[in-house]
Amino acid sequence: MVRTLNRQQPLLAISIGLLCFLTSFSGTTTPRDPKNNPLTNHSVVSRVEEIYAPFDTLRTDLRDYIWPTNASTVITSSFADYRRTHLHEGIDISTNSQKGYPVYAAREGYVSRIFISRRGYGKMLSVRHRDGFVTMYAHLQRFKDPIESYAKQLQKQSRKYALEVDLDSSMFPVSKGDLIAHTGDTGIGSAHLHFEVRDSSFNPINPFLLPQISSAISDLIPPVFHMIAFTPISGTSKIQGRHRVWVEDVKSEGPESYIVPQPVKLSGSVGISVRVTDQSDVLKYRTGPYRFEMYVDGQLLFSSAKKFLLESEAHQVAAYYDKGLLRSQKGRFEKLYIESGNRLSFYNRLPEGAGSIDASEFEPGDHELKVVAWDLAGNESTLTAIFVIGKSIAR
Ligand SMILES: [Zn+2]
Repeated sequence: MVRTLNRQQPLLAISIGLLCFLTSFSGTTTPRDPKNNPLTNHSVVSRVEEIYAPFDTLRTDLRDYIWPTNASTVITSSFADYRRTHLHEGIDISTNSQKGYPVYAAREGYVSRIFISRRGYGKMLSVRHRDGFVTMYAHLQRFKDPIESYAKQLQKQSRKYALEVDLDSSMFPVSKGDLIAHTGDTGIGSAHLHFEVRDSSFNPINPFLLPQISSAISDLIPPVFHMIAFTPISGTSKIQGRHRVWVEDVKSEGPESYIVPQPVKLSGSVGISVRVTDQSDVLKYRTGPYRFEMYVDGQLLFSSAKKFLLESEAHQVAAYYDKGLLRSQKGRFEKLYIESGNRLSFYNRLPEGAGSIDASEFEPGDHELKVVAWDLAGNESTLTAIFVIGKSIAR
């Protein structure tokens, strides 16, 4: 039988909920036996339900957050984009390679942390809001006084540049839109503003789920498919007769439609991954798309969306991006299958193993594979391929 699931609700209807619930979950994760069928393993299924349930309840006012700078509304990197050691936990906002633009508190709250380092975030401020959610602003040139002078005083006392101090609500309260700092190039990378939204347990949320943040970006350009990869998952898997990753350029048939030019013969269990980029109208930078669905013969087999991360999962970059293809200079491929040990929260209710195509579950002959990619503005592109299951496969 082919594993399928029902079409998901529109993504923005999926609200962000009480993520602290999730932290306790991730802390108790134990390795699973990959031989267990995830579809019949009730403990796994109930745990998946448990993970997802809190997100059906809105726990922060999504409409209350504003764009945190007047530098630009250009995004140079999206949430969960590839980084060598982690998934990107926020968004990068272009400051036109310059420093000194104002940074505004995205919402009412208080400065809850001052962080200064020569590496990583550089100079960074956190603002904690009434509901416990936190916004973070990094690579700053300087803080606004009196925060800057307070930080300087602490640096002087400790005789160190690096500083990490948590503050209570009485020190530096802020209103929405208050100037709190200026953009810079401190820490890693060139001048830009790195902006994060985290829940009260410090789990990163995709800032584009906040309507005032996403609506600031003009985006009518759909994602662009570049390549597809078929990866053997089991020892007996073959693609075009060989037990090795099969990578193919896709062909454009119009701005939103792509095809794989030749049918691909599959046996055993095979994972699909794709190299897709997305850009908004004003943007020369390309980031990853927001959401995927994959269908076989019209039935939904897999879906993912980069809504949020558990703080403890941010290092799982190899679970999402194919490191082998990256090493072989093929680019950043996003996996459309969930391998054992993947604890990322991008997959809604899907269990481990979802998305992989098991040739033994299909009738011999041609089958249609369809991958749909969306950006956060809802622009959509589709890639269609034909895969062939040989008659010789034992059934
Ligand atoms: Zn960043």
